[in-house]
Amino acid sequence: MKIVLITGASRGIGRAIAKKLAESGYMVIANYNKSEEEAKELLKINNIEIYKADVTKREEVHKMVEYIISKYGKIDVLINNAGIDEYKLFTDITDEDWNKMINTNLYSVFCTTQEIVKYMIHEKFGCIINISSVWGIVGGSLETHYSASKAGINGLTKSLAKELGPSNIRVNAIAPGVIETDMNKNLTQDELKDLEYQTPLGKIGEPEDIAKCAKWLVEDNFTTGQVISPNGGWIIT
Ligand code: NAP
Repeated sequence: MKIVLITGASRGIGRAIAKKLAESGYMVIANYNKSEEEAKELLKINNIEIYKADVTKREEVHKMVEYIISKYGKIDVLINNAGIDEYKLFTDITDEDWNKMINTNLYSVFCTTQEIVKYMIHEKFGCIINISSVWGIVGGSLETHYSASKAGINGLTKSLAKELGPSNIRVNAIAPGVIETDMNKNLTQDELKDLEYQTPLGKIGEPEDIAKCAKWLVEDNFTTGQVISPNGGWIIT
């Protein structure tokens, strides 16, 4: 059985990926940090285990990875999904805001991947999926620190794909457009309608759309170093 670790799987996109992969027969370790109640609900599904760890903290990530390795002996798939966003004028972003954003969205990817990659190299097998954003590709006004963190993920993804390809480890990023999760709960109905209008497919995305893309990437064996953007045609580069 393939063993999957998904960071930030208590809510939104990570949760949808956890459900999709567990229902498809993978063993999923669903990481969470603050949303314990939501995480516990996942235990109703077969093949899901939950694990609390703050992915900005090396020692907590290390303990989580060692726990999984001691129980299952390997990690086949890592999905770096945990993330935060914030809307702020560039001139208002403090050092604290910047560091929190970069630590949560980018350092976590570096740290979690580094803790796991040595085991993937040993197995000569692995699939890493980093959840980026359209803003990492085209840049988002009022979201410079968020966009910088996601552009960083895209660069890391491409570099690591080159470095780890010879070890049969694939590294890709998914850069979603607007997806209906708590992250967008501040958008008004009018703003959502406007976004739908600007999108060629006429709708914003659902977590399930990203879960399907993730499952496809997990099961593929010739795609690496790519930044794939399910966004309804909203951003076409
Ligand atoms: P969400 O509903 O707000 O969920 C965020 C998840 O990240 C939660 O499960 C949260 O866990 C987890 N998380 C945050 N900080 C963490 C930490 N320090 N340690 C462990 N887990 C942490 O957001 P979402 O929309 O599903 O976003 C998921 C990913 O997709 C993010 O990387 C986001 O940037 C990206 N994305 C989202 C959209 C969108 O439109 N929604 C678009 C493009 C990209 P707890 O609540 O348990 O702390």
